[in-house]
Amino acid sequence: MLDTIEALHTEGLETLRAVEQPAQLPEWYRTYLGRKGKLTEALRGLGALPADQRPAAGKRVNEVKEALQAAFDAHQDALKAAELEASLATGAVDITLPGRPVAPGHLHLSTRTLRRIREIFAEMGFQVYEAPQVETDENNFGLLNIPPYHPARDMWDTFWVDDQVVLRTHTSPGQIRCMREHHPAPIRVILPGKCYRYEQITPRSEHQFFQVEGLAVGHGIRFTDLIGTLRAFTRKMYGEARRIRIRGSYFPFTEPSVELDMDCMLCGGSGCRVCKHTGWLEVAGAGMVHPVVLANGGYDPAEWSGFAFGMGLERPAMLHHRIEDIRYFYNNDLRFLQQF
Ligand SMILES: [Zn+2]
Repeated sequence: MLDTIEALHTEGLETLRAVEQPAQLPEWYRTYLGRKGKLTEALRGLGALPADQRPAAGKRVNEVKEALQAAFDAHQDALKAAELEASLATGAVDITLPGRPVAPGHLHLSTRTLRRIREIFAEMGFQVYEAPQVETDENNFGLLNIPPYHPARDMWDTFWVDDQVVLRTHTSPGQIRCMREHHPAPIRVILPGKCYRYEQITPRSEHQFFQVEGLAVGHGIRFTDLIGTLRAFTRKMYGEARRIRIRGSYFPFTEPSVELDMDCMLCGGSGCRVCKHTGWLEVAGAGMVHPVVLANGGYDPAEWSGFAFGMGLERPAMLHHRIEDIRYFYNNDLRFLQQF
């Protein structure tokens, strides 16, 4: 009996060493250590032994069983490690290969134009003041000298949130917020941001657009300061050769009010399709802050004066890049966006 056990031990170890694939391991296990395996059979055979031989034989069977189990575990670990190593060796990443290029995005044309405008005004000492896009009727109209009965309200078709709240139709309500926040200190800010009007969407008009507002409030600020500021802006933005002209206009919140044009950068003033053969392009609406608006902002118009201006963002970009449809700005069409 003991000879059979020793023979099983030797045989088990030898056949285990011959197993080269992890997939063959269960087969070996069933043969030697499984419930119907050779060692289990040997254990059963103990009952046929004379009583005085049983303990020693039983002890030996268990020792061999443990030894085979230990050999099995070690061999299984070794095979798995070898397998992992092989897969690492064959599937290794070749770090000398050039990587796949990541397609880099870039800033939207509106963002880039806005950043350029901000840079130019920052050089002139203007800070950025951000105001909310959802405004009270009072800030959007009333405090800007546009009471409910005022015909100027017809200039803006408005998205109403409720009776008292609107999506701002221009960036000018930010003037009121900025003045109330900073008075009695002098102010020099631009107020860029999105505005909304309830308009028919056409190649020339969207119901959302960017405006950049400017506001300066101080002692002794004059109309010529406004002209000089806008002239400097126009030249930095569109080229040193630009000429500007001022036309009288009307806005409820400035007095006097003007429109500022510059000579067309595409034809140099001789007239082309873009400038509708006038030689001039509109740049901004502007004026001296109306005394009522100054007072609404907390500044005594007898002591303080200021100028304000407002310009669109998309229109100049359209002129500059000869974009024929304002709707492209909001379509998220990569074919359009990637051109800039
Ligand atoms: Zn032109």
